[in-house]
Amino acid sequence: MLFALFASVKCANFAFEEERLTEADVGDFKAIAFGDASDTYPLEDEPDCREYPGSDNWPLEEEWSQLNRSLGGTLIQGVPPAAVCYDGPYKDTAKCTFLTRNASSSRFYINDPVTVLTEWPEGDTCHATLQPQADDNCTQGGFPAYVINATTVRQIQIGVNFARNKNLRLIIKNTGHDFIGRSSGFGSLSIWTHYLKDFQYLPQYQIGVYSGRAARVGAGIESWEMFAHMNEHNITTLVAGGYTVGAFGGWMAGGGHSALASKYGLGADQPLSIQVVTADGRFVTADPNQNTDLFYALRGGGGSSYGIVTSAVVKAHPYTNVLATSLAFSTGSSNVPVDPAHAEKFWEGFDLYHEFGKEIVDNGGTACYVSRRSGNNSYSFTTDIELPDVSAEYLSNFVQPLVDDLKVIGLNVTIQPPETASNWMAGPRAGLGDTPGNSRFASRLLPRANFDDPELFKATQRALRESVEAGYNFHGIHLKPTEEVAGYPGNNAVNPAFRTAIMHADLFDNAALRGLSPMAFKETHARLASTMDKWRAVSPEAGAYMNECDLEEPNWQQAFFGSNYDRLLRIKRSRDPWGVFYAPRTVGSEDRVVLTEDDMPTQNGPLCRADSVQGWRGYKKTK
Ligand SMILES: Cc1cc2nc3c(=O)[nH]c(=O)nc-3n(C[C@H](O)[C@H](O)[C@H](O)COP(=O)(O)OP(=O)(O)OC[C@H]3O[C@@H](n4cnc5c(N)ncnc54)[C@H](O)[C@@H]3O)c2cc1C
Repeated sequence: MLFALFASVKCANFAFEEERLTEADVGDFKAIAFGDASDTYPLEDEPDCREYPGSDNWPLEEEWSQLNRSLGGTLIQGVPPAAVCYDGPYKDTAKCTFLTRNASSSRFYINDPVTVLTEWPEGDTCHATLQPQADDNCTQGGFPAYVINATTVRQIQIGVNFARNKNLRLIIKNTGHDFIGRSSGFGSLSIWTHYLKDFQYLPQYQIGVYSGRAARVGAGIESWEMFAHMNEHNITTLVAGGYTVGAFGGWMAGGGHSALASKYGLGADQPLSIQVVTADGRFVTADPNQNTDLFYALRGGGGSSYGIVTSAVVKAHPYTNVLATSLAFSTGSSNVPVDPAHAEKFWEGFDLYHEFGKEIVDNGGTACYVSRRSGNNSYSFTTDIELPDVSAEYLSNFVQPLVDDLKVIGLNVTIQPPETASNWMAGPRAGLGDTPGNSRFASRLLPRANFDDPELFKATQRALRESVEAGYNFHGIHLKPTEEVAGYPGNNAVNPAFRTAIMHADLFDNAALRGLSPMAFKETHARLASTMDKWRAVSPEAGAYMNECDLEEPNWQQAFFGSNYDRLLRIKRSRDPWGVFYAPRTVGSEDRVVLTEDDMPTQNGPLCRADSVQGWRGYKKTK
């Protein structure tokens, strides 16, 4: 009987979660002692800034060594990978050659403990190049000072406790896909969850009113890696369409859309139970019956805010195939000036497509499209229309009315026969990754009303059109992740704007950011922001998707969290009164500011209390 009880407790977690920190382990190494939330002091009594290399109370070498010993030797010094390309102690031409060849694929960035895909928020301080120019150099920038390569819960607990007790900036890197610097931080201690890849199929899982198939998943599994598990067990779990995105880190925490969003909801709608290390260093379960505040916040309330997720139990749906058909039209060749009359037909087609978007989402589908301006004021539009669980014939018939309407107005439409959606069902090579970008963009979750109301529809279409005419790439995703399709357990912190949206609209600014002066950087942003103002004007009550957003989104608390913000802030303050977890534009992040020497909105500077920064203006880093 006792054995049976023990066995059932043991199998509630992965083996790596059974290795936990105990009071006895702490011993006299008080720097890794657990925290007590009832024993904290007000924010204004805290030191002005988190410690950083060179600051007065930065841990001594001996303390880092002791930390490393307590971790079993998994502490990594945070050397920027491209340091091998620059004069200095790490210079190594062979390694630099290897790096420049491999840095064109996101796989390199994901497998590296330090770097991230989008480099400008880090400060872009050490770029991989075989031939650095005379004024190029490599500095630490927003790369972490140390990284814990976490393979056990114990190591994560130690890392959280050490950061909290030593007043360090703590960051969490899973894959490093975040676009605005949430997995970077100057002078930080980083916890790298990349290798938490365990998977367990649960044929019969029961919690609350849920009874059925589920999967226990490690927080480091990438989206593409899940497809092998799905195929093996004949199930479908939701993952990102960007295949190397972590499926259970930032994606799940911030919302998480996919090709199945209109059928099963968002990534944040999938967990039935979550394992998490909280800011006091404790390891807890959050589910519909216990730690319900955390369970609410961890599903949609953003990553890097309430704890470090180590694993989750997620719903396993019946095996679901997604078929896509690709459709395109344009104003014609970009080599010759476009006839203005033909350009108008293009925009008529643009309107027809957006009318049809409602049909797509009402049939459980999604669509992913890009519209852009090219030479000679030519315009193109390409979309993948995706429906789950349908035959090729059904999908062809489904899109035919749209194709007919586009042809009637005189557009030359190309359409590809249905095939498995390219953003669903990754093969084994999908993990190689794509080319990482280093640009900036902004998001809007456009409500259905914008496409139902004729006047609002016209205004919306004009705003979208003007942004493409201004030279931005417009990337739209049709989706309808209502609470109804999300199902049990519900009651989560997903941005309410997702629930009424039928389109996640993203505007990509292709301006090259590398090498821009702070003033030029701000100017390009001002231009993007003024274009986005038009989108905001036609959807004043709507929001934006925090995972694919503009760092400088105005009124970001409302935009990313909507009416959930106040509740989330209360949870944040009660669960993390120390503010251990910080990342830009996450709940409670308004309490702190990153001080940068060039006043750029990057993570390349000390993290300080917002109410103390006046005295720090004009500061220079200790070199
Ligand atoms: C190429 C590309 C494709 C994309 N495709 C999609 C898509 O199809 N659908 C979609 O919705 N989004 C997509 N995104 C956006 C993506 O959802 C976000 O970038 C997401 O935050 C990435 O999460 P991550 O854990 O992989 O990355 P990271 O950058 O490592 O983490 C992102 C944030 O989550 C935090 N975090 C990570 N792991 C944990 C954890 N275990 N516990 C607590 N906090 C954690 C980090 O600290 C950071 O704040 C894409 C992004 C890129 C670059």
